[in-house]
Amino acid sequence: MTGSEDLLSRYENAVLGVFGRPSLVLSHGDGAWVWDVDGNRYLDLVGGIAVNALGHNHPALVAAVSKQVSEAVHVSNLFTTPAQIALAERLLAITDAPPGSRVFLANSGTEAIEAAVKLARRTGRTGIVAAENAFHGRTTGALALTHKAAYREPFEPLLPGVTHVPYGDSDALAAAVTPETSAVVLEPIQGEAGVVVPPAGYLRDAREITRAAGALLVLDEIQTGIGRTGSWFAFQEAGIVPDAVTVAKGLGGGVPIGALVALGSDAAALLAPGQHGTTFGGNPLAASAALAVLDTIEREGLMDHATEAGRHLADRVDALGHPLVTEVRGRGLLRAIGLAEPVAAPLATAARDAGFIVNPVAPSAIRLAPPLVVGVDELDLFVDALPGLLDTALPDQETP
Ligand SMILES: *Cc1c(COP(=O)(O)O)cnc(C)c1O
Repeated sequence: MTGSEDLLSRYENAVLGVFGRPSLVLSHGDGAWVWDVDGNRYLDLVGGIAVNALGHNHPALVAAVSKQVSEAVHVSNLFTTPAQIALAERLLAITDAPPGSRVFLANSGTEAIEAAVKLARRTGRTGIVAAENAFHGRTTGALALTHKAAYREPFEPLLPGVTHVPYGDSDALAAAVTPETSAVVLEPIQGEAGVVVPPAGYLRDAREITRAAGALLVLDEIQTGIGRTGSWFAFQEAGIVPDAVTVAKGLGGGVPIGALVALGSDAAALLAPGQHGTTFGGNPLAASAALAVLDTIEREGLMDHATEAGRHLADRVDALGHPLVTEVRGRGLLRAIGLAEPVAAPLATAARDAGFIVNPVAPSAIRLAPPLVVGVDELDLFVDALPGLLDTALPDQETP
């Protein structure tokens, strides 16, 4: 029982069905490539959903994790470790954190958001403003901030006090923020919504609106952060300093980790001893993995590479001039290809059958969030194949 078909039927009889039936059973990867258990090779253009920043089997991550495993995997937060301290310092450095800033280490994105929600609650206010189509996670606190009805409604009532406003609309945001607003929580680019880039100036407006109202600005950089959009964090490109940033996905390069960075002493002082905690968060294994990821991104120049490779990809897809492609949006190596017809799902299937992993993030868009180490030549393999894949996804195209 080792082929994909056998394994997938065992999966369906053992794993809770919340993810549906996976399309592949993967065994291992190398760089931007993964292999399934039947020996087929795929170019991984999704990178574990913006997680495998260094790709698969990167020697720096393998070495750091292997060394740490042989020393200490976990010590609890009754104690600390050199790795935990170094990671917190490093996160403060890469967020350009002002004096007094502090880091809380967790195990996932949704936990980073939970910490942000608790931070917001400590302002003494209960309102939170988030955006329509936002995704902030699946625990019941984070779920209250997530917008999609299908995710939320089966679990209501959720955390009260959350208002959703149209994303990218500064006037709507200004109108929704009141003296009861504890925090505005926004993704700098909406990821799960289909890689939606807000108008220029939106984050600056959000900063001004929250500052004037005495509310926190929390930026969810779980998908955009850690070099993916070409700088450590997307907020740095907007030239603002939020009150808190949530980080996860790419941070551990695949090892589970999340973080809340409270920027400035006012925000950092909101959570007092005993008011929040975690068993696994900040463990030396995850911290060592994250340190290796951050060091490697810097050493290998992967932020500049993300900018250049992402632009190359967008330019080349645009240059195809294919009638089914409406646009390439996003920044760096967080991209979506907009489609004129709702054929993202058949396109993803055709791509997979041709050896490319892409994500049908919306009915009319596929998302690409490849490892930051992906080569331009590897991206070209996909662009070269794309016209044929689009024709397979929309067979009517061929009939005159
Ligand atoms: C993935 C994601 C989350 C949730 O992270 P998990 O690790 O899945 O809990 C939250 N916010 C954004 C923007 C994300 O992309």
